[in-house]
Amino acid sequence: MSATDSEAALSAARREAEALRQALADHNYAYYVLDAPTVSDAAYDALFDRLGALEAAHPELQDPSSPTQRVGGAPAAGFQSVAHPTAMLSLGKCTDEEGLRDFDERLRRELERDTLVYTCEPKIDGVAVRLVYEAGQLVLAATRGDGQAGEDITSNVRTIAAVPLALRGDDWPAGLEVRGEVYMARSAFAQYNAGAEAGGYKPLVNARNGAAGSLRQLDPAITARRPLRIFAYSLGEAGSERFACHFDALEGLRRWGLPVNPLAARCEGIEAVRAYIDRCLAQRSTLDYEIDGVVIKLDDFNLQAAAGVLSRTPRWALAFKPPAEEALTRLEALELQVGRTGAVTPVARLAPVFVGGVTVSNATLHNFDEVARLDVRPGDAVWVRRAGDVIPQIVRVDYDLTAEPRGPVPEVPEVCPVCSATLRRAEDAVVLRCPNSQGCSAQLVAGLQHFAQRTAMDIDGLGEKLATALVEGGHLKDVADLYRLDLPTLAGLPRMAEKSAQNLLDAIESSKRRPLARVLFALGIREVGEATAVTLAEAFPSLPALLAADFEQLTALRDVGPIVAQGVLDHFSEPAHRALVDRLLAQGVDPEPPAPRGATPLAGQTWVLTGTLETMPRKVAKDRLIALGAKVAGSVSKQTACVVAGPGAGQKRAAAEAAGIPILDEAAFIEFLETTE
Ligand code: NAD
Repeated sequence: MSATDSEAALSAARREAEALRQALADHNYAYYVLDAPTVSDAAYDALFDRLGALEAAHPELQDPSSPTQRVGGAPAAGFQSVAHPTAMLSLGKCTDEEGLRDFDERLRRELERDTLVYTCEPKIDGVAVRLVYEAGQLVLAATRGDGQAGEDITSNVRTIAAVPLALRGDDWPAGLEVRGEVYMARSAFAQYNAGAEAGGYKPLVNARNGAAGSLRQLDPAITARRPLRIFAYSLGEAGSERFACHFDALEGLRRWGLPVNPLAARCEGIEAVRAYIDRCLAQRSTLDYEIDGVVIKLDDFNLQAAAGVLSRTPRWALAFKPPAEEALTRLEALELQVGRTGAVTPVARLAPVFVGGVTVSNATLHNFDEVARLDVRPGDAVWVRRAGDVIPQIVRVDYDLTAEPRGPVPEVPEVCPVCSATLRRAEDAVVLRCPNSQGCSAQLVAGLQHFAQRTAMDIDGLGEKLATALVEGGHLKDVADLYRLDLPTLAGLPRMAEKSAQNLLDAIESSKRRPLARVLFALGIREVGEATAVTLAEAFPSLPALLAADFEQLTALRDVGPIVAQGVLDHFSEPAHRALVDRLLAQGVDPEPPAPRGATPLAGQTWVLTGTLETMPRKVAKDRLIALGAKVAGSVSKQTACVVAGPGAGQKRAAAEAAGIPILDEAAFIEFLETTE
């Protein structure tokens, strides 16, 4: 990079960092002071992470007043400010296993330990408070504020029934400082909002803001009417000398009458932590309080002290948050993709971003109506969403973070970007289609990939790159030409070794004998997916039989409606498609017809399984028998054809012996399966 380039990059980064700081400051104010957030926590975290990444990449941009260096928000007006003797910190976060392992590895290295013991707790999504007990009496309650000083909310906290005004027992230290999370139970939140609707007063945005807003009421009588609760999650400095580790301190707090989360558990080693996180997050929706992750804390207080703290987070604790489903990134370019059926779709090329647990660099935009609806242009800052296995999508443009002037509005293409044929609007007037189905190389490449995929002809090794090379090299005009390829042609392709060329030829050869249903799916008939292909293959057990089928015969099949039937008829009414089938057959493709029903080896027989099978779960044994056509019954009768008896078989075996029914032990059964299947 030249000096001017790097200066330009730095000044772009500076502008972006400033915009992010402003946005974060606004969100902090709305969240901490007004208790009325305007974006989701995941969206906030994404902005925060983006700023952190910019500051890490450009150390010149670091600034002690950046939100990445400070905790929380300023104390609200109207309450007395109280300084915290030890800072109330935020927590470092991670969203994946790698972050978790890095945390553990760093601590083990620094503390020179092979294994560390952690205490794990749900991360309650409420409001942090500090409670001070003197001689067993509650004397002060404060919010976290900016971590150094918070607000005195003692009168309000005294109205929370779960907070003991006097500690139980008598073995508490004279001065005790407790930290905890005040929250509103989900059920209480729902009840409050139902009441708000009926009574015409303002509903709460969510349970967390319900708790924060309730704690900050200037009139404690109002707080008292809001159903708040608390979980104590740690000791402050005062009192901690009593315990050697965090988990014991939690037990102490519980003994003195403070509610402690019952799910808190000690975990030895990071694998146990991983398992705890899975268990905890799995039960998330069944808990009566909101959690936004799991907090992992080094258990031993001496080791905590040795690990130390950073400016806004302790180094001995970590919050594991499930990965955000939305993240902020930049649209680098809008490209056009031509699919197997000629549909031309805009695809977003994104600056890579971690979202929903994976790194995403492409997102679908479906069609140009969607591009117009989102008003998205190259260069824009965009929010991307990916939940579970869903294909990543652009949700919206972030105008606040998009630099002016914006790029030009993307033009709707008029010709195919690959073969230049004039595009047509398809039936629904939304999808653009390239009509050049025989001559457009992009359609052929996509068609080859569809043909070769695992659930179709299963030609291992024929991916996008190779398909493109074959089409661009002029070696293929349609999928039937695959069966005419020879070794010199394949080995002559760029970056193709002779061994891989031979493997590909072998894979092509063995694809000639695929089940008919897979071949039908591979042909790419519109409306015919894998399941419909199975139905069609069972009814018309050869390609010529299907080609001869009419509308009535097709719609008479279960699961085949008029649209699918018409799709099949339209497909085969095209001479090019019929010719393709003829050429595939001529090249030696010989689809395997489905086994006729009733011809399975054990059809009509009833088998019984008894005793334990040592090498195979009983469910597997049962499924394999069923696949061979047998019925599997629970008791021996005159109809029983055979009994499989593992160790521990009792009465059923005896009954079979008495009735002269054949009995197989486990080894004989397995041999039988292997020779019969
Ligand atoms: P944090 O997420 O960094 O976590 C620290 C807090 O976790 C502690 O102060 C404590 O209150 C809480 N906690 C809950 N259970 C705990 C346990 N068992 N042990 C220890 N601590 C526990 O909190 P933060 O610093 O207040 O806030 C940052 C987060 O707040 C952001 O990541 C974001 O999700 C949210 N936020 C959202 C907006 C918005 O506009 N939506 C604005 C600001 C902050």
